[in-house]
Parts: sequence; structure tokens; C-alpha cells
Amino acid sequence: MRTDDLILKCQEAFREKELDLFLGFERSSSGFLKPAVFTSLESLEKISWDPSASLNLATFIPRFKGKKVGIIAPGCVSRSLVILINEGQVSRDRLTVVGVPCQGLIERKKLGDLKGVRFLDSQNGKFTLQRGGQIVELPLEDYLSESCLDCDHSGPVLYDYLIEGSSRKNPSGNLEKRVKALVELSPGKRLLYFKKEAEKCIRCYACRQACPMCYCESCFVESSEPRWLTAVPEVADNLIWLLTRVYHLAGRCVQCGSCARACPEGVDLMSLLAWANQSVSELFQYQPGLEIGEKPALGEYRLEDPDFFWGGGLTEGKKCCS
Ligand code: SF4
Ligand code: SF4
Ligand code: SF4
Repeated sequence: MRTDDLILKCQEAFREKELDLFLGFERSSSGFLKPAVFTSLESLEKISWDPSASLNLATFIPRFKGKKVGIIAPGCVSRSLVILINEGQVSRDRLTVVGVPCQGLIERKKLGDLKGVRFLDSQNGKFTLQRGGQIVELPLEDYLSESCLDCDHSGPVLYDYLIEGSSRKNPSGNLEKRVKALVELSPGKRLLYFKKEAEKCIRCYACRQACPMCYCESCFVESSEPRWLTAVPEVADNLIWLLTRVYHLAGRCVQCGSCARACPEGVDLMSLLAWANQSVSELFQYQPGLEIGEKPALGEYRLEDPDFFWGGGLTEGKKCCS
């Protein structure tokens, strides 16, 4: 994908749809892309998209209620937008989507110490960095985020304008294997695994801030009446935090990996999220963010829904509270 094509397409969208602002990325001083808000045709000359981006831009959408917003969207961002539309966080007619092809995003933690490192370019499955005065060329596949390696919807599912180009194919299936291994552990060993992950968490909430589906204005962790968690990041409360967030995201998470990339402690968020999503998918044959108008799997009730409490589907004569 050529940056010139992206600029022209975003400017076309901005002009034709009479947008108030456009959400995209621009180059930071280290060469890695950073999120940016563009408010004019001229400013859009700086818009860019490549594997050095990190955040899911849909995260910023609820902040611009009432505005006409444009946004560039690879597969996972477009799926987040579908969910935000379905959940009433943005109206479709105020949103203009420029779909972009996606080869996956770099997990910066895999690059080690980033002091003095400059991102230069990415093409043909490789990217180049400047490190200690040297130019280094690296294979993209070895440095991709886990979520991108596993991505099965890299092309946009919702768009008004489209930039042609090839998107990532052949998901690794690694997350599914990890979840299967966790499910096969004894409950005690599984708890031990998640306790070890919870021990790493410092409750900085960067994962929540980076997630487009965590848009509540008031989060349960900050509630003082009742107080659900202490302010100190100790393991029992960390587990409550991590598991509650995962429950809130079950069947809503698009597995973009934005939260995992934002986590400074490398907590294994993707296993938990993939596990919750797989459970919803198996129980309700549902994948989030694929269709406008669809209700979230855990937000509606069907008679044929599985009902383990009664040992099978809901049968005549059995009521939930009798
Ligand atoms: S999860 Fe998929 S669509 Fe999203 S950035 Fe990664 S490869 Fe692209
Ligand atoms: S999981 Fe990571 S990002 Fe989230 S609160 Fe814990 S340390 Fe912060
Ligand atoms: S929970 Fe993480 S992976 Fe899922 S949608 Fe939110 S940021 Fe993306």
C-alpha cells in the first residue's frame, strides 16, 4: 500500500463527507506511528499506516460523540466499529471508514531496548530500523504481535472507501492451542497459571485505556460505593480485575491485541480473552463485530440457548427460578 494513495483517499473522504475530524496515525520522532487527530485536508498529508502502529484507533471514537468522524481501519478496527455501532456508541451515518489492508503490527516488546531505535520503513514482509548507527532489516513475521499472528479477519469488514492491497493470511492457530492446553490443565494448575499472571499485574489499567470495548465512563475498579478492589495491586484483587474485565469482554473482544501491546508487564491477556471468546463462540455460534444490527451474544436470550444449570436446553415446565 502506498502512503500517497492513503493520503489521497483520506482527503477525498474528508472532503466528500464534510468530516469534522479524521482519526489516523502519523510518524513520531522515533519513526514509529502514533495516533493522531487530523482536522484539515492539509494536515492529512501527514497520515500514514504501517506495521509500526500499535493502538486500536476505534478506542477514541466514543470521545467524539456528535462529530462527523473519519477513521482508517484494518480488519480488527472495523470489527470494533461494528460493535460500537451495535452498542449505540456511534451512529453509522456520522462515521466514515477508510478500510486499509493489514500485514499485522509489530510487538515492540520483541525489539528489546528501544532507546535510540528508529523505525524507518516496512515493505515486502520486512521492516528496517536504525539501531546504534546501523541499519537493520528484520523479517516482519518474527516480530508480529501474537494477536496479529493469529488474526483471521485482517481485511476490513466495514468501509466506505477502500485502499486496495493484500492483507495477512494463514492465522497461526497458536492462541487456540494455548487455550486448549489451559483447558486441559487440572483446575488447581490452571489457577496457579492465572495467579502467576495476576502477580505480574501492577493495575496501571493501560489495557483498559487501549481497548475500544472498555468505554464505560465509570469503571467498577474506581467505584468507592461499593468498593470492589483495594488500591494496592495484590494478587487476589488483581485476579478479580483481570477476570471481571474478561467477563465484560466475552463475545465482544475482537482480539486486536491493543491491550496486550499496551501492558507494560507482559501479562498473558490474550489467552484469557481468547478463552472467553472461544467459549462464547462454541456456546452461541457467535463471532463479534461481523454484522451491523447484530446483538452481542451475551446481550440477548434465545430459548434454544444452552442451559447447563438444568443439565441441557431449557425444557418445558422448568423455569429459571422455580
Ligand atoms: S489483529 Fe489482524 S487486522 Fe488487527 S492489526 Fe493485527 S493483523 Fe491487522
Ligand atoms: S494487565 Fe497489564 S496493562 Fe492491565 S492493569 Fe495489569 S499491568 Fe496494567
Ligand atoms: S480486550 Fe484487548 S484484544 Fe480485545 S478488543 Fe479490547 S484491546 Fe482488543
